[in-house]
Amino acid sequence: MTSTRPGDAAAGAGRYAPSPSGDLHLGNLRTALLAWAFARSSGRRFVLRVEDLDRVRPGSAERQLEDLARLGLDWDGEPLLQSTREPVHRAVVEALTAQGRTYECYCTRREIQTAASAPHGAPGAYPGTCRGLDGAERARRRRERPPAVRLRAEVRSLTVVDRWAGAYTGLVDDFVLLRNDGRPAYNLAVVVDDAHQGVDQVVRGDDLLPSTPRQAHLAAVLGLPRPEWVHVPLVLNPHGQRLAKRDGAVTLAELSAAGHGPAEVLGLIGRSLGLPGPVRTAQDVLAVFDEDVLPRRPWVVDPAGWAVQRAV
Ligand code: GLU
Repeated sequence: MTSTRPGDAAAGAGRYAPSPSGDLHLGNLRTALLAWAFARSSGRRFVLRVEDLDRVRPGSAERQLEDLARLGLDWDGEPLLQSTREPVHRAVVEALTAQGRTYECYCTRREIQTAASAPHGAPGAYPGTCRGLDGAERARRRRERPPAVRLRAEVRSLTVVDRWAGAYTGLVDDFVLLRNDGRPAYNLAVVVDDAHQGVDQVVRGDDLLPSTPRQAHLAAVLGLPRPEWVHVPLVLNPHGQRLAKRDGAVTLAELSAAGHGPAEVLGLIGRSLGLPGPVRTAQDVLAVFDEDVLPRRPWVVDPAGWAVQRAV
């Protein structure tokens, strides 16, 4: 039997897991490049996963993969289409349900918002309205509305250690595993599929840090190892808001049309990462990749004045 030691990078993988809801913009491309560089520089495999459980725009997954390849990123194996894993996601929930670790929830969004804004409720937490319903009540409610399935969380909060953010303590509520349209929810799918793909290093935008304690709790419940997390700051527009398509030329296609090809985009991202230049290819990034010089603050980019950038 081959043994794999914890932290044995050769046995693990990093990943990038975009939602195919549109073209990748500079912020997404920068996070993807970082995920790739963290994985490759530590001897890990690098895998892709198309998170197509919702918000799918036709043709978007293909264009995202093309753009990553145009930047010079390479990956191991075929990208995993998350929707093909739905039977596994459902089987995991069935097993948890058989152990009494889930319950059906009939609440509407509005009911949850009203209950969660009550005094003493933790902001953003599901208040547990459906946790204690008896069998008869559940049968009655089920006739009114298809249920979502929630985890019966065994803790209220959890501390995770992020490579950049350090110890982060966040909420763990009875979060949704299966939505009421029967489809797997993100927090379930991400945990199950990262483990399936052998991912032991998760590099992603720091907007997902607040979801991480929930994911760590689910991993523990399922007996899965915790990956290493590196939550990287987002890219912001000059108004301090998360960069978006409406901010101007921010996708690789738009930038190319404006005369800025992949080499120039890599150069810009490389400068934003504080890497010594000139960087023109992904391999150049890898050659000078140095975690210690990477800025820990958001990168502010002004697409209207291309290449105008500053740190906040
Ligand atoms: N699919 C998610 C997104 O594009 C990322 C999920 C993750 O990295 O855990 O925002």
